[in-house]
Amino acid sequence: MSKRGKLKFILIVSLIVLVIVFLSRCNEQPIENIQLILKPTAPQISLYPYIDEEVTLRVAISNDSIEEMALEEYLIGVVAAEMPVSFEMEALKAQAVAARTFTLRHIPAFSGTPCSSRADICTNSSCCQAWRSESDMKKNWGDSYDDNAARIENAVAATTGMVITYEGELIEALYHSSSGGFTEYAQNVFAHAKPYLVGVSSPDTDYEKSYTFTIDELTEKLNNAFKGASITSLKTDLAILSRYESGRVESVRIGKKIVSGRELRQALNLSSAAFSYRYDGKNIIITTKGFGHGVGMSQYGANAFAENGYTYDEILKHYYKGVSLIDLNTLFDAVNVSNNFFVP
Ligand SMILES: [Zn+2]
Repeated sequence: MSKRGKLKFILIVSLIVLVIVFLSRCNEQPIENIQLILKPTAPQISLYPYIDEEVTLRVAISNDSIEEMALEEYLIGVVAAEMPVSFEMEALKAQAVAARTFTLRHIPAFSGTPCSSRADICTNSSCCQAWRSESDMKKNWGDSYDDNAARIENAVAATTGMVITYEGELIEALYHSSSGGFTEYAQNVFAHAKPYLVGVSSPDTDYEKSYTFTIDELTEKLNNAFKGASITSLKTDLAILSRYESGRVESVRIGKKIVSGRELRQALNLSSAAFSYRYDGKNIIITTKGFGHGVGMSQYGANAFAENGYTYDEILKHYYKGVSLIDLNTLFDAVNVSNNFFVP
């Protein structure tokens, strides 16, 4: 081969090598880029967070701090804050499933309503549900941290992806501390009925609390809380008019006003609306049964069931009538993208 021929040959070979290298680089395109290409043709709601089981959410830790967290990681903090770690494992699992379902109802992609425009959910128990950070757990549990954290993690991991549905939709998995023996119909507390949030018996009758006020003190408190009530003599101006089947107070006459048991509970910061009262000289003693609104799962009831050998799914099906337990992950395979959760 001539010198020129050799040069030509080297040039052609180099060109071929360059083309091969270029083509092979194209195939190594990062996954993110592939997703970007696919995005315009994807459905309106991004499927990304569920297909790989990593549902992430924005959690408002305080007013100015928003943290993005994986759902299952967030749930460990919820179970730790919402239930005593000493509770039975099946009760902790029931709590994990209820909390998971409750949380997803706050995520727009699951047709949920977020807590605010900035966060899907917050850590205020009177708004969303309580949550404890790892450092708080360490502070609270001290030397028992490892054992306690392992219990909570087990409860969450053993139920990974498990959610509660009614007729194919995620339920509003409301829960409360203690029912006092009977849970409450949703419409008696929250103004809207749900077929699965009905009153059921509950094996937690122990929690009672007493509040002592002088008659003058309570008269003043009620007159301040309910403008226009104009109580003059508490003994004749205060009367329970009706109770729900559960024993919670439905309506109370306070002077010239009729208010709900729930409103009275709120005004006096009582543990529950299942209250009664008696007079003792110059005092009035109000006694409440249970703790919380009474709707959905009772946490102490769940523990009592677990102590008697009930499993977490049996417990959940007792407190939420007619529901099914399903694995969220099975819903999000490619075949099943047209299920109820994706209807905008
Ligand atoms: Zn909230």
